[in-house]
Amino acid sequence: MTKKKFYDSQAWWYFSRWILLKYSDGTFVRCFTCNRQMLLTDKGCQCGHWIKTSDSFATALESSNVGPMCYFCNRECHGLPEVMEQKLISIHGEEEINRLKALKRKPLHLDKWLMIQYREKFKTLYKVELERLGVNPWKKQPA
Ligand SMILES: [Zn+2]
Repeated sequence: MTKKKFYDSQAWWYFSRWILLKYSDGTFVRCFTCNRQMLLTDKGCQCGHWIKTSDSFATALESSNVGPMCYFCNRECHGLPEVMEQKLISIHGEEEINRLKALKRKPLHLDKWLMIQYREKFKTLYKVELERLGVNPWKKQPA
């Protein structure tokens, strides 16, 4: 799995949008690291990793490893890992963050089969969130 393939995948599409919806009111969401308010449909509204995909794919699709992040924090500031870690601890607890740290060291080969499993799982969760919020900010979605 390359980073490009990962970010182009439908599994990531559904996962990242599920995460954004989860923390949103259906229209706006706040950046986890600078608290700025973003429109869900803004290009700069992203789903940022704490443990980067370049460090491990094992934590790439763990919901406790990610959060809504603005382009500036995610790209320009490389995800502000110290700030992000504190934010994730405040939400998920220290134990869960320690689980991620251990998981990071286990190599995971994201093969085609696994990516299909993930796509189906996150597609379902994404749809549950859309229903809960009663909106669909993106309209278009992959198959
Ligand atoms: Zn930010």
